Amino acid sequence: MIIVLKPKTKKKEIESLIEKIKKKGLKPVAFEGEERTAIHVLGDTKGEIGNGWSSIQCVEKVMRILKPYKLASKEHHSQKTVVRVGDATIGGNDFVVIAGPCSVENEKQIMEAARLMKDNGIKIMRASAFKPRTSPYSFQGMGIEGLKLLKKVREKIGILVETEIMDVRDVAIAAEHVDLLRIGARNMQNFDLLKEVGKVNKPVTLKRGIAATIKEFLMAAEYILMNGNKNVILCERGIRTFETAYRNTLDLAAVAILKKESHLPVIVDPSHAAGNRDLIAPLCKASAAVGADGLLIEVHPNPEEALSDGAQSLYPEQLTSLLKELKPICNAVGRKL
Ligand code: PEP
Ligand code: MN
Repeated sequence: MIIVLKPKTKKKEIESLIEKIKKKGLKPVAFEGEERTAIHVLGDTKGEIGNGWSSIQCVEKVMRILKPYKLASKEHHSQKTVVRVGDATIGGNDFVVIAGPCSVENEKQIMEAARLMKDNGIKIMRASAFKPRTSPYSFQGMGIEGLKLLKKVREKIGILVETEIMDVRDVAIAAEHVDLLRIGARNMQNFDLLKEVGKVNKPVTLKRGIAATIKEFLMAAEYILMNGNKNVILCERGIRTFETAYRNTLDLAAVAILKKESHLPVIVDPSHAAGNRDLIAPLCKASAAVGADGLLIEVHPNPEEALSDGAQSLYPEQLTSLLKELKPICNAVGRKL
């Protein structure tokens, strides 16, 4: 349920309404708009609609949200959420390309990668220090040492950095070292992790689970939002289907639906969908055309030597030509790259 207040409602009146909501055992979340404040009431609000809320002096109207996801829905928040990561803005007019290697491997590799991204005008570099690998015998990531290296390149090269977190115990330390956190596909429904990330003051990219429906995806985002973190970016990264010609099936219809249903920014990771670098450029172009707010792509200074996901990582020169090819498509849909 949303209680929309009249313009110019006094702070005191808002506070007293919030107290009233709390006394009923419900959770109020206030959103200050330019003209008026809206109080989102979470919890079991069945039967509350006709319960006298609309007759309170400062209340303009009371609305029921029918969608199971509340805070993530457009019904709740009709204006687009623009997530700020340093001087980059995701969900606004800019089309933002986050790019970099799958993993942090060593200092030389990550320095080289950061320079490469910077030279291509990339503002945010991706690189994972904690790696969710199918095989326990595969490279598991550098862990905390990797986070330290990310912080080092961030300062030395002057680039923003993002990384994956897999464990609640690493959320705080990761938030100290990087500009943008990422919850990977395998952890989309790790509810404790979602709650913890909801409590930190750091933007987060939430990836769609390998077999998650769009509704489940938005409900996962809801966990983060409801714990206080409003800076959530949704990322479509392909789902598992019967098709074996590529790694996963990139669901571009999901991007269109998410943009319609939610106010949150939506980016696309074609690398983990395709599993093959030859498919990256066409999928990036399609993502821009369908209305995505940006991309998350894997690029490695030397893909043949990569410790993870080399086959889907772009060669440096492929990144440069991709960015050139993307420009007119972004312009055609009114976005700036
Ligand atoms: C990644 O981005 O490094 C990754 C592991 O992707 P996903 O969680 O989508 O598989
Ligand atoms: Mn990867």
